[in-house]
Amino acid sequence: MNVGFIGIGQMGAPMSRHLLEAGYDLTVHDLRKDAAKHLLDKGAKWADTPKAVAETCDVVISCLPTPIQVQEVVYGTHGLMAGWKTGDIYVDMSTNSPTVIRQVAKDAKAKGVAVLDAPVTGGTRGAQEGTLSIMVGGDKIFLEKIREILQAMGKKIFHVGDVGCGNVAKLVNNLISLTNNTINAQAFVLGVKAGIDPQVLWEITTSGTANNWNLQQYPQTVFQGNFEPGFRLSLGFKDIGLAIQLGREYGVPLSVGAAVEQSLLEAKAAGFEDKSVDGFILYLEKLVGVEVRSAKK
Ligand code: NAD
Repeated sequence: MNVGFIGIGQMGAPMSRHLLEAGYDLTVHDLRKDAAKHLLDKGAKWADTPKAVAETCDVVISCLPTPIQVQEVVYGTHGLMAGWKTGDIYVDMSTNSPTVIRQVAKDAKAKGVAVLDAPVTGGTRGAQEGTLSIMVGGDKIFLEKIREILQAMGKKIFHVGDVGCGNVAKLVNNLISLTNNTINAQAFVLGVKAGIDPQVLWEITTSGTANNWNLQQYPQTVFQGNFEPGFRLSLGFKDIGLAIQLGREYGVPLSVGAAVEQSLLEAKAAGFEDKSVDGFILYLEKLVGVEVRSAKK
């Protein structure tokens, strides 16, 4: 099967590598050709445009930063729409707006192309190790056709509902995880500023009711001063914005999410947007003059 992959970034690079290693005939595209060098060296083909990917592949996957890039890749002059053939399948693995991917699915259907949204969780480590969880929205018949492709990249594959539902699930996940991330940072900066050793605080919080996944990562991230992405703060800001937009569409108040969005905006405006999302704590640390670091791992 000819598989195309567009967006060879932090996530897309290891995800597409797994497809190549699983034996798929892989064609790749990115704005930066050098991002795909490791794949081209191992036998992947290069396409200059999304249109060229669609023309030569049965299944096209994308993993792009925001809905804007997905729309460019689909609708641009040399976009997927211009190259799609009846019977093709498009799988968008970006964290995207449910509304945007539903519109793409509607427009693609008119060309005989099926669309699935299949965002992921598990971070860059999950992408490297091929252990991502994948949340799929769209017709189950098409999921079954591409299930093996997804299995090359992830361990858990959930069929969530119609197209767009994959992203609804992903935005719910990130609303929770980004809120945890923000309150963890505020609480730890408070604790350390008020004189508690960060390691002791971590042992207390991770063994009690405050425990959460993001906090469990602190010995490898915050305590080490390791804020390289990873998952960029600017992408976290995008995700919380998409979740709030969804809340607005469905009339669900997300007051805590709105506060988190403002906190991330402050950190972004202060220049931390290209740090990992854990780097939010850097902004707070600078603000109050304290560092949450510990030598212990
Ligand atoms: P990234 O910025 O590292 O990678 C995006 C890639 O897309 C880049 O290589 C960029 O050059 C390319 N690109 C951008 N616009 C393009 C265009 N118009 N045409 C072709 N290529 C284009 O981002 P990432 O961290 O890999 O994230 C990708 C998606 O996965 C995002 O939607 C993000 O929210 C989601 N996600 C990321 C993580 C993570 O830990 N990084 C985890 C889960 C989900």
